[in-house]
Amino acid sequence: MVDLVTQYEKIKPEVDQNTQHVFQTAQFINGPEVKDLQTELESYLNVKHVIPCANGTDALQIALMALDLQPEDEVITSDFTFAATVEVVGLLKFKPVLVDVDADTFNISLEAIEKAITPRTKVIIPVHLFGQCADMDAIMALAKKHNLYVVEDTAQAIGSIYTSKDGSKHAAGTIGNIGTTSFFPSKNLGCYGDGGAIFTNDDHLAQVMRSIVNHGMGKRYYYDRLGVNSRLDSVQAAVLRIKLRHLDEYTAARQKAAAFYSNYFSNDARVETPVIASYSTHVFHQYTLKIKGIDQYACQDYMQAHEVPAMIYYPMPIHTQEAYGPENFNHEDFAVTNELCTSVISLPMHTELDEEQLTYICQTLESFLNQAV
Ligand SMILES: *Cc1c(COP(=O)(O)O)cnc(C)c1O
Repeated sequence: MVDLVTQYEKIKPEVDQNTQHVFQTAQFINGPEVKDLQTELESYLNVKHVIPCANGTDALQIALMALDLQPEDEVITSDFTFAATVEVVGLLKFKPVLVDVDADTFNISLEAIEKAITPRTKVIIPVHLFGQCADMDAIMALAKKHNLYVVEDTAQAIGSIYTSKDGSKHAAGTIGNIGTTSFFPSKNLGCYGDGGAIFTNDDHLAQVMRSIVNHGMGKRYYYDRLGVNSRLDSVQAAVLRIKLRHLDEYTAARQKAAAFYSNYFSNDARVETPVIASYSTHVFHQYTLKIKGIDQYACQDYMQAHEVPAMIYYPMPIHTQEAYGPENFNHEDFAVTNELCTSVISLPMHTELDEEQLTYICQTLESFLNQAV
């Protein structure tokens, strides 16, 4: 699904030099690389504050810890996402309120959010799934009307650009009160281990979250609140600083591969290629097809037997997972997610795909379809 080895070969001199420098100066924790990455990300994203942390799940947890919520307060998020988005809500003893998604973009459905709002609702977490922004103008308007916080889960969409109705452009993760991201190796901006970051334009929230990532400390050894230990280490920051310089080029490579796939299947009625919303660029963390009426697992097995690592993201809606209490949810409320979980298949997507590989992948899928459908 990803080719991080070839990618590393191409940036090896830069990465090796930067990481060697960390080893030689031994400033492993909160060294200058972390501070420099922070500043460079703030300028890349055009956001006032970036707070590096240990991973994307922590980023979400710290965001929710900063919002002075009460137990049982309700947090609305998408049923079609990676479990981390919902997990942190439960861990903090808030109530995860799952809602259905839009059939075209796979992002949280506005009507479904609207229906789910109660007097206990405090937060909406839109997930910019697979690399394209949710409809943030509409979500922000709804949040304003009901006095809710918005935390954008941007783990899959760093570098994606949202265009507001007034024409202004915003980096994914910088529109809501807080944005969070992950630097897990396979993410669009990935390090060589775990990493994450939090974004905000709010000075007060930034100050609170900087304290939470460091045990809730304000002044040295004075603890103002409960915190955690969530740091990005300097070696990862050194890698990320190099990869950030290449991010636009990486995004372009993903978009080129996606365009190849979409073009190949543009006249194939069996396959629905990704829909790109008018208000967002798509940075293709995943390239996900909808193919109705096939056995996805048979398709995946066929592809894998031909050395194409296709994946099913996600095979089960969160509301059906044991950990989240399926009895708390109405299966029929999730018609779109239920259907997506039986029809999606993601093709290999990374920065190193060449035309020969892309052609082979498309032909392999096509030959499966010819025998299956
Ligand atoms: C990867 C991911 C996360 C979690 O990031 P980690 O760095 O693995 O903790 C959260 N939300 C979404 C949507 C993700 O894809």
